[in-house]
Amino acid sequence: MHYPPLIVWFMALLVGLCLGSFLNVVITRLPVMLMRHWRREARAALELDEEPSPRFNLATPGSMCPRCETPIAWHDNLPLIGWIKRRGRCAGCQTSISIQYPLVEMAGGLLALAVVALHGLTAESLFIYGACLMLLALAVIDLRTQLLPDIITLPLLWAGLLFQLLFQPFMLSDAVIGVMVGYLSLWSFYWLFKLVTGKEGMGFGDFKLLAALGAWLGWSFLPLILILSAGLGAVVGLTAQACAPRLRGKPLPFGPFLALAGWVALLVGDELMALYLSLLI
Ligand SMILES: [Zn+2]
Repeated sequence: MHYPPLIVWFMALLVGLCLGSFLNVVITRLPVMLMRHWRREARAALELDEEPSPRFNLATPGSMCPRCETPIAWHDNLPLIGWIKRRGRCAGCQTSISIQYPLVEMAGGLLALAVVALHGLTAESLFIYGACLMLLALAVIDLRTQLLPDIITLPLLWAGLLFQLLFQPFMLSDAVIGVMVGYLSLWSFYWLFKLVTGKEGMGFGDFKLLAALGAWLGWSFLPLILILSAGLGAVVGLTAQACAPRLRGKPLPFGPFLALAGWVALLVGDELMALYLSLLI
């Protein structure tokens, strides 16, 4: 493959870091926005008066320390550099700032480099990168709050179908079947698990996320995605329980593992599929 010049790599990294920084805002604020929205709806349904609440969205209020509410200066808010410069502490109250911020920024940058390296600089790459970022946001939101918001999973699904329509229309029927099989497989598993054990093994967001991956990759990738994500989930879950007994019995979100398997399949899907088939035969 013909590799782009160095400046392209540098720009891709820079754009990726900045988008990672924006994802941090989405990851921390979207669940709060949704919770407020549900609360408003519940109060309206119960015919209770509206609660006064200050404006809160992705842009307002500006970045601030969650503890002392000191606004964060622009130079402390630069992706990666800001966190390193402040050594992960707030300038006002010295509270430590979560490692999530630099990690998500770094993931945004590294995913941009990986997409350019594996798919080149094309319109398809932009779509694939967009999907990788949405998966990143979903994975971290699920880890933090056990939510996979529809406002991300459903657009991811539509974008997958649009991707097939624009770039590989011969895959469109595989993708539509992928959506249906993706949703229904986990839906069936959920009900079976619930009937047998009386517990909920996963959430409805997981079905929608697997449906979205079915749109992006086609139905034939779904077994591989499930094997990868369930395998990773089992290894991480057992390790976490062995290392930290207090985690025993706590539910482990499945979304991050589905997202991880989705990245792998989006980035090196063909190689992975070849390896999988060679192991089967
Ligand atoms: Zn502070």
